[in-house]
Amino acid sequence: MESGGRRPSQGPPVPYRERPLSYEPPVMCRCRLKAPRWISWSDDNPGRRYFRCSRAWHSEFMKRLLLDLRDAVWRIREERAELELCVNTELEVQKEMNQALQVENLKMQVELCEMKKKLAQKDEALQVMAMKISEGTRCRSISALLSVLVVGLAIGFMLGVIVA
Ligand SMILES: [Zn+2]
Repeated sequence: MESGGRRPSQGPPVPYRERPLSYEPPVMCRCRLKAPRWISWSDDNPGRRYFRCSRAWHSEFMKRLLLDLRDAVWRIREERAELELCVNTELEVQKEMNQALQVENLKMQVELCEMKKKLAQKDEALQVMAMKISEGTRCRSISALLSVLVVGLAIGFMLGVIVA
């Protein structure tokens, strides 16, 4: 973020012993004002006196401020884009999970349907078996009755023959 430019707002590390404008003879700036005299605190030329218009300060400060604001806007946009990507990915994952769940649900419904069908078939088979069993019992009792009748008739006939 820092472009190495000096920040006017930071100011000099120690206060000026003489005010920037209290020097003689005056050096005039291009803007026809007396140029303030400053002391350099740069690494290369510490203590060097130099002149710089206070309007230059102002424009440099504004330039720095604009650049900082631009960087801040870019940073916020980047963060927003990242956040959007995050949210979209999360939504995508949720959607996929939802679809998978729906498929699973459908499968389970189909399975349930098949199980119900099988259960109905078993039920039918059971009913058929129950009917056969009850029919079988009826048949057996009828045949038993018939055999009793036949035996009775035979005995009656034999008794009749003997009596006669
Ligand atoms: Zn000036």
